[in-house]
Amino acid sequence: MELSLKWSVTRITTKFEFKIARSTESYYDVVILEISDGTNIGLGEAAPSKRYEKGPDAILKLLEANQKQILELPLEDFEDRQAALERMFPHSYALQAALDTAFWDLHGRRVGKPLWQLFAADQELVTSSYTIGISDLSVIPDKIAEAAPYPLLKIKLGTEYDYDIMRAIRRETDKVLRVDVNEGWKTLDDAKRGTEWLVRENVEFLEQPMPADQLDDIAKLREFSPLPLVADENSVRPEDIPGLVGAYDGINIKLMKCGGLSNALKMVELSQKHQFDIMLGCMVETSIGISAMSQLGSFARWLDLDGNVLLADDPYIGVGNKAGKILLLDEPGLGVKNRT
Ligand SMILES: [Mg+2]
Repeated sequence: MELSLKWSVTRITTKFEFKIARSTESYYDVVILEISDGTNIGLGEAAPSKRYEKGPDAILKLLEANQKQILELPLEDFEDRQAALERMFPHSYALQAALDTAFWDLHGRRVGKPLWQLFAADQELVTSSYTIGISDLSVIPDKIAEAAPYPLLKIKLGTEYDYDIMRAIRRETDKVLRVDVNEGWKTLDDAKRGTEWLVRENVEFLEQPMPADQLDDIAKLREFSPLPLVADENSVRPEDIPGLVGAYDGINIKLMKCGGLSNALKMVELSQKHQFDIMLGCMVETSIGISAMSQLGSFARWLDLDGNVLLADDPYIGVGNKAGKILLLDEPGLGVKNRT
């Protein structure tokens, strides 16, 4: 089978400026890949996070320099293929993810089956949350109004004015909230105070309350916290998981951190083995990335796959999202097509 590879950079714009504890963006450049066998095309997306790697320009250079080797990767054994991708691109998890996803999509299309079926996952998924980024207090009513259809909200905190944000949100809604601090609480005392207060605010869990390199503090916080703690910046790759026992209750798995569906599957298995609750998350991504992660959705207790619905201009159509209910398709592969 003769394969060919194409790529392009696409700028995606969010409906609102997207701010978290360490960054503010209103658009993102993602790299879209197409791997074709002449009949079927597999799609993949790299949405590199500045927390973990360089931007899209670095990915383009890697693609240009390695095109031939990519097309010679072993296709039949996905574990061998992933190992080769990690050797080839050790510093770009997003590129690993894009290639792994495109190879899986191509495979699914060739055998005529949706990936969730090939992964022995279920089509029925729990409701996903919708993310409210950090914003000026005056914008919060608009954001909560925009989120009206979504029953579960994920709130970004980790600012100097967390308490004001929560109060402003609670003036607008009594929905269940999940809170993501994105490493924003720097001392155990601050984290304890924040946690104690959030317990009374109908919060379901707390994601990455403190910096990833303060794991001992996080373990102490966990002993104190009635809320489950979920790792995100601490749970990047499969090999991170065993070291998180005792510090966390749950693991947030993302394609752009772990390097694709093959590693996400591995993280699901490791999380189950170590009795962590599983959360599947995302960066700001198009429907390619979100549709890919959704294929594993039934393995998760919590879903946070809203990157595509935060966009003003998603160029692709994939899994649906009706008020947080993600609808997995019966189409082969990812089931994604161009919007136009
Ligand atoms: Mg997070």
